[in-house]
Amino acid sequence: MPSETIETNSHTLVTIACLSDNYAYLLREKETGVVALIDVPEAAPIKAELNARGWILNQIWLTHHHFDHIDGLPDILADFPAPVYGGAADAHRLPELDVALSDGGSFELGDTQVHVIDVSGHTIGHIAFFAPAAQAAFTADSLMAGGCGRLFEGTPEQMHASFAKMNNWPDDTLICSGHEYTTANIAFALTVDPDNAALQARNNETQSARAAGRFTVPSLMGLERATNPYLRSGDTGLRKELGMPQATDAEVFREVRKRKDNF
Ligand code: ZN
Ligand code: FE
Repeated sequence: MPSETIETNSHTLVTIACLSDNYAYLLREKETGVVALIDVPEAAPIKAELNARGWILNQIWLTHHHFDHIDGLPDILADFPAPVYGGAADAHRLPELDVALSDGGSFELGDTQVHVIDVSGHTIGHIAFFAPAAQAAFTADSLMAGGCGRLFEGTPEQMHASFAKMNNWPDDTLICSGHEYTTANIAFALTVDPDNAALQARNNETQSARAAGRFTVPSLMGLERATNPYLRSGDTGLRKELGMPQATDAEVFREVRKRKDNF
């Protein structure tokens, strides 16, 4: 199974393809060598990556309860025992947690501070992990490359509030989302934001990346702000296209999400 690696000054970020279109991530702090695994869709490709690099696991972080983010956990723990971190609000339907996390809380991976943000919408209790020193945020099925996760449990208003929190992250934040859905997300985004030149350019880049077998995640927060329609509720061009010049941002978000459901 393929993987892709990004090196920053302080961290190594490995994106691992799992199942049909899921991603798991390894984040390693170079100074201390400590490693976190973020989400566990399936064990085999993650084990292969760890073994190839000679890494052990120090922490396992879970974003939400869906099977395609947790099912590989028992098999990983058998070979790579590590404390499991997840949302306290989701603890009743996550595997057994060693560390239960709440919105606004934080913890450390080595010397790297990791902030916990409730991003309910796709599910209630879905959390994101934001590590500013690593320039990385793990958003799974909330903020996705060019889109947002389907609203299985939450309302558009809840997801809009979650997106408003994530919209505070700097442009250079690597957005590590849970699936390779970018091609479809961008195709939809063009229907509501057709005159957006940055979006048109992203469409071309996405097409060539996929044709070459490359991942389109992680993406960068600056690119998301420029092209992701769920972060652009206030944009004049998008509002004009929707015929909603006077609506609230939340109403625009709801309309975009509704159109995607019918796309
Ligand atoms: Zn999910
Ligand atoms: Fe998922």
